[in-house]
Amino acid sequence: MCGVFGVQGSLDATKYTFLGLYALQHRGEESAGIVTFNREKANIVKGCGLVEEVFKKVNLDEIQGSLAMGHVRYSTTGSSNDINVQPFMVKHRGKTLAVVHNGNLTNTSFLSQQLESSGSIFQTSMDSEILIHLLAKSSEDDLENKFVEALGHVEGAYSALFMVDDILVGARDPYGVRPLSLGKKDGAYFFTSETCAFDLVGVEYIRDIARGEIVFIYPDGKIASKQMKKAKASRCVFEQVYFARPDSLVFGQSISKQRKRLGHVLAEESFVDADMVLAVPDSGNFAAMGYAEKSGIPFEMGIVRNHYIGRTFIKSSQLIREFSVKIKLNPIRDLVDGKKIVLVDDSIVRGTTSKRRVEALRECGAKEIHMRVSCPPVVSPCFYGMDFPSTKDLIGAQKSVEAIGDHIGVDSLSYLSLQGMKNALNGEKDEFCDACFSKSYPIKVDQSANKYVMENA
Ligand code: SF4
Repeated sequence: MCGVFGVQGSLDATKYTFLGLYALQHRGEESAGIVTFNREKANIVKGCGLVEEVFKKVNLDEIQGSLAMGHVRYSTTGSSNDINVQPFMVKHRGKTLAVVHNGNLTNTSFLSQQLESSGSIFQTSMDSEILIHLLAKSSEDDLENKFVEALGHVEGAYSALFMVDDILVGARDPYGVRPLSLGKKDGAYFFTSETCAFDLVGVEYIRDIARGEIVFIYPDGKIASKQMKKAKASRCVFEQVYFARPDSLVFGQSISKQRKRLGHVLAEESFVDADMVLAVPDSGNFAAMGYAEKSGIPFEMGIVRNHYIGRTFIKSSQLIREFSVKIKLNPIRDLVDGKKIVLVDDSIVRGTTSKRRVEALRECGAKEIHMRVSCPPVVSPCFYGMDFPSTKDLIGAQKSVEAIGDHIGVDSLSYLSLQGMKNALNGEKDEFCDACFSKSYPIKVDQSANKYVMENA
């Protein structure tokens, strides 16, 4: 769960990157950072916290560069502390190398053992650092071949940006698990995890980086591309159903449209007669609109979201935290009192918050609550960069659908079927990873050697 953003060829590259990270804040709230390159000099600012917190006292003009790239992080591998904050930057043979990375590598243990036995010394526990060591170790002379050779050793999920002095490089793993898009504005090139960041700074979306593609953008505006051997397309379906912002294109598809389609299929699969369809805002909004469209049941804004819940609140006392669900989402009593409700959300991961939301609706007089979820039960962890709780905390892995319904206190509960989700998102093609729903993992994971897997399996 991370976001990356990069710019080559603009005097405002740093400011664009700062704004881009704002738009990608939902992809990681633990840390943020920007590295820039201007003529001979690299500058880096990074720290723990939201983008706003990290850059509060930073004068962006002082770290100005014509190349900039940034990162927001929610740690999946490597603990969440200052040393693991990205960008990760080193000096090697007179050049500055830096990386920002979204995803999880799956052969890190093997690679780090190999690298350490040939003299590498690691500064962090981030798998992103391995990418830099592999580049530094490559025996190829030509920069583009160096990347092809180095990334050829890596397995797993990555959408990564690299800075090699004044050259910006964007790369996606051969399975294409995580998104990465390319855009252009006033002759400058841009990379982003999601296109909502392009919209914010007025960048024209050109295309997605292909799976296994490495794109090099040089300071004179020249652009070059190398293609690694492609593997079976395995885009993360959870980006579509849950993670990405609805105003983004991800994998070239409109997220809001995809989520409406999920709602359509959900209504076809599990129609229930009711007075209104409510969304759990904001996550369930588009699927709920889709459900309402298909079922003909009116969509109502029956739950109001408070947008002013800060991190201090989440970290405050147990007593205050107990009110967190209600303070965040409050049902409108006049609307729901005495009504039969279809409540649509995009997922149930642990089940705790769903239970509290249902209780709040009951307290406001809801007569019947039928919960509909726009994806199948999450039954297995993600090893490719999405931060899930361990299997023992995934309610979908521990209880039957009926038992989950009883646990959260609804009159009925239905999830979208796996096939229904595939049909809604992908038509006939099977180009997604859906392992957290199906346990069918497209990229081999070294269970015995991968610390993250051992902790979560
Ligand atoms: S396991 Fe789930 S969250 Fe992870 S990449 Fe696959 S679909 Fe996405």
